[in-house]
Amino acid sequence: MPYISPVEYNEKRIHAAAVYCSDGRVGEHFDDFLQNGLCLPRYDRVALPGGPARLAEFDKPSIEKQAVLAELKFLVDAHELNRVILIQHENCAFYKHHLNLDGEALRPRQAEDLGRAAETIAQATGLKQIEAYHAQPTPKGMTFTAVELDLPAVQTASRSQTV
Ligand SMILES: [Zn+2]
Repeated sequence: MPYISPVEYNEKRIHAAAVYCSDGRVGEHFDDFLQNGLCLPRYDRVALPGGPARLAEFDKPSIEKQAVLAELKFLVDAHELNRVILIQHENCAFYKHHLNLDGEALRPRQAEDLGRAAETIAQATGLKQIEAYHAQPTPKGMTFTAVELDLPAVQTASRSQTV
């Protein structure tokens, strides 16, 4: 017997994508934040280890970055995206594994990478509406704090919320 999902299919696109880490421990929180916090149902997902880190200038050759950027550009064109949301999260194994960064040292680096990723996306796609958030587990769930992007052409969000 095939499994039948009761979730209704809506073919209307929302014209927004989120770039975030594959980590399944935070996937439902990301969905909740994007769908209910930012009111973006059916947003496009670009999930890969490290998320926005893969669009920042990383220590390794940039062939990976170009590949990820190409996938995002495809979505911008094919799905007519006008908004991209970047999310980094605490305890990200990508940073621990590749840069040996975690704990206190992690967040400043992630903030830098969010800025670099936003700049890369803005330059490659011309998109103006790029937002960045940092996700932190709390006893009540997960807090998403807007990270200011130092890009004159890039719109930044200014809110923090817990979902
Ligand atoms: Zn991660």
